[in-house]
Amino acid sequence: MNNIDLDKLLAGNRRALAKAITLVESKLDTHREQAQDVLEQVLPHSGNSIRVGITGVPGVGKSTFIEAFGLYLIEQGKRVAVLAVDPSSPIAGGSILGDKTRMEELSRREEAFIRPSPSEGALGGVAQKTRETMLLCEAAGYDVILVETVGVGQSEYQVAGMVDFFMVLMLPGGGDELQGIKKGIMELADALVINKADGDSENLAQLARQQYTSAMNLLRHTSFWTPRVMTCSALKQINIDAIWGMVVEYYFRALDEGGFYQKRAQQNRDWLHQLINEMLLLKLSRSAEVKQLLPVLEQEVEADRKTAYTAAREIIALL
Ligand code: GDP
Repeated sequence: MNNIDLDKLLAGNRRALAKAITLVESKLDTHREQAQDVLEQVLPHSGNSIRVGITGVPGVGKSTFIEAFGLYLIEQGKRVAVLAVDPSSPIAGGSILGDKTRMEELSRREEAFIRPSPSEGALGGVAQKTRETMLLCEAAGYDVILVETVGVGQSEYQVAGMVDFFMVLMLPGGGDELQGIKKGIMELADALVINKADGDSENLAQLARQQYTSAMNLLRHTSFWTPRVMTCSALKQINIDAIWGMVVEYYFRALDEGGFYQKRAQQNRDWLHQLINEMLLLKLSRSAEVKQLLPVLEQEVEADRKTAYTAAREIIALL
């Protein structure tokens, strides 16, 4: 597996890219090392893209939107990579976004690269693999990376933590329950996009836009960006250009104000901390001494013979 052709990858060769991604997604420890090697080498060539996160409940029109958006971007001369983060919850089954029939036209285009979510990863979960895949795609010359996820579980938080611009797709006529979209997600959104603003739903969509605009004004602001509320029709391709215009406006403002690289640096730091936490837990769970001592301590804590605090310290002392 270690014969990744870096020159080909950097030249945008799809097979070299796909091969590198397969290496990154592998669960074998030896592949993991090789993958990190490859990633270290591509790192100086990565980062030159706009990373856009897209979430929304099933049926809101994510794949229709990404197909329309991706084709529009290709018309603008961009190369587009679409990555998916599936919620890793066992209830969701893990493959809501893996369906190959989605984005049919986009997937046929030479300028597009679509990669479904890998099956659940170990360290850092699927989001970790998606982060690394994103770096590979950037090194292969993709200008826009679209990271898609369903609004279930923790996956939207993970996606919001790895992109420059995070948008939440909504349905017209949502009502105050916000269509099952959690308030925490609204707070992370740089834009709410009300899809299906066409035909009979158009008025409803405009009404929803007004409501969400007042709701959003109460939420998060950065120094240079107030979250926007837009309407579009992915099906009829209405306002797709305006949505890209908004992303570009955000990008230049963030660059001007210095927020762009700050945010990426913060995301890298958070990612590091997350990995340290997970590696510590993994180390603990694999330790033979911990395996031996933990059940004993559990009994003592259950029986109130020892405080949980003291027991936890005894475990940590084994590290
Ligand atoms: P996803 O589950 O979020 O990926 O949603 P899909 O893209 O599969 O779309 C779900 C359904 O909504 C499909 O039947 C689409 O044709 C339809 N749909 C998507 N976007 C629009 C839109 O802008 N207008 C209308 N009227 N229907 C849409």
